[in-house]
Amino acid sequence: MDVEKRPLSNTEIADRLASLAQLLSAQKDNPYKIKAYRRAANSIRALSDSVHEVVESDADLTAIAGVGKAIAGAIREIALTGTLGQLEQLRSQSGSELIEISECPRLDPRRVLRIYKKLAIFSIDDLRKALEAGEIERIFGARTAQHVRQGLIETHAILLYKAHDLRSAVEEYLLRKCHVDRVEATDAYRRRMEVIGELAFIVGTPDFPALVHQMGRYGGQTPLLSSTEKSAHFALSAGVVLRIEASTKETWGVTSIRCTGSEAHLRKLSGITGVRAFRANAVFETEMAFYNRFGLSYIEPELREGHDEVERALNGNLPVLVAETDIRGDLHVHSTSSDGSNSIEQMAAAARKRGYEYVGITDHTHSLKIAGGVTVDDLWKQIRFIDRLNNQDSGIRILKSAEVDILADGTLDYPDDLLRELDYTVCSIHSRFGLGKEQQTERIFRAMDNRNFNILGHATGRLLLKRPGYELDIDRVISHAKQNRCCFEINSSPDRLDLSAENARSANAAGVKIAISTDAHSVREFQTIRYGIDQARRAGLEKSAVLNCLPLPALIGILNR
Ligand SMILES: [Zn+2]
Ligand SMILES: [Zn+2]
Repeated sequence: MDVEKRPLSNTEIADRLASLAQLLSAQKDNPYKIKAYRRAANSIRALSDSVHEVVESDADLTAIAGVGKAIAGAIREIALTGTLGQLEQLRSQSGSELIEISECPRLDPRRVLRIYKKLAIFSIDDLRKALEAGEIERIFGARTAQHVRQGLIETHAILLYKAHDLRSAVEEYLLRKCHVDRVEATDAYRRRMEVIGELAFIVGTPDFPALVHQMGRYGGQTPLLSSTEKSAHFALSAGVVLRIEASTKETWGVTSIRCTGSEAHLRKLSGITGVRAFRANAVFETEMAFYNRFGLSYIEPELREGHDEVERALNGNLPVLVAETDIRGDLHVHSTSSDGSNSIEQMAAAARKRGYEYVGITDHTHSLKIAGGVTVDDLWKQIRFIDRLNNQDSGIRILKSAEVDILADGTLDYPDDLLRELDYTVCSIHSRFGLGKEQQTERIFRAMDNRNFNILGHATGRLLLKRPGYELDIDRVISHAKQNRCCFEINSSPDRLDLSAENARSANAAGVKIAISTDAHSVREFQTIRYGIDQARRAGLEKSAVLNCLPLPALIGILNR
């Protein structure tokens, strides 16, 4: 009797690649190779097509983002045989502790093995107990404890930019394979939250049960978690939960408002509309119709957080939120002078192509050796070089700047006479994250007291889903910035988004100007500005609050403290 082999789901294929990356990392194999396996695993988790089917149809696997020839071979082997020779070999050479660690893709195997050795423990279960007992923090410090905590949490959250790719894939699948008439992403994604816990869609379909059945085949196989007549939850391979709700054309507007949330917004809203307005059969074809019916102007999704948006919509004085077309330049950009991958001329040309009037070149300063920081002599040369470029009239003004390291004692990483030659500075913390709250706050105060300080770069140092920021009294930093005519940035790098919307809201309320900057390290990264704009809009910023919405002369005026 033939036992038919069950095709592997994308999750199962990705798990094997991730596991291989973990075992290679424990062996100190080539870090680029390890990274490549991790990247391929992640991109497979986000695919709607079944990788197994792609292999069977002999289609080109290298069309998948992050999959080159070698990894394509590995994927083919996994799909056809259920496993991978190299993975099996490494597993056979590893102890059971390491095999268990290799199944937790977010733990650093070498770091965890060191903990095992020191504490004489042998399993993830023991590791969790040691963490909960505070032992790991006491012996290895707060950062290691943080790493273990993040690695052990079964996170279902993903970053906004990852949700963006996933949204396109799911939307396309719903239209192409599930034949929905209409689909719209809602909830946290639509409100542009920086971390998404659940990816939600509303769909119009005559046959919801058929849709639920078809969705179960997304990416080869996607487990259904729960379903009712009108809604269903699935466990997507990317780790995030997928929610799909059906709506009719007549009730689309009210369904959309309800699904978009937030809870706090809906609570305030129902204070005006009454809860009956949200009944499932309430007829509102559009959101606009709903808001207008109750005397409110339309509220942008990014504002629906239950701050003051409902009152302001009632009074007709909602802010006109900043948009991508309002941006006139980028004030935080790296070049090959430090750790960027494009030259100053290439970065300037790319900025001009975006229609910008100016771009500030902010390479790292000499203390940041790991990022190829620019020496004093080289920065003097770069200043003269940029002067020459500007004289050639390249159609964009290149601003002379640097991302100046704020040293542990709060001094800036270049002498004042050099800093004075720059058009402005972005000043950032890249070291000594472990200082206490008071010391860290004082460190930034001292930096801001230097007249050459202009913009505080990535103010809290957070990395989303990886590490919280350093300790900081942000309210006092905001008022110190106000007194000293310093500005903040919203760093658009999708895993930073720092300032957060909440902090940007406070800074704006205090009258401190905010730059929306990309921190681009290549020409491609200019486009991440949209994620910074998302957060600025969530903070309720109008273009008048944003430094790089100003024309050049006004900008220079503000940057001359
Ligand atoms: Zn930085
Ligand atoms: Zn930077």
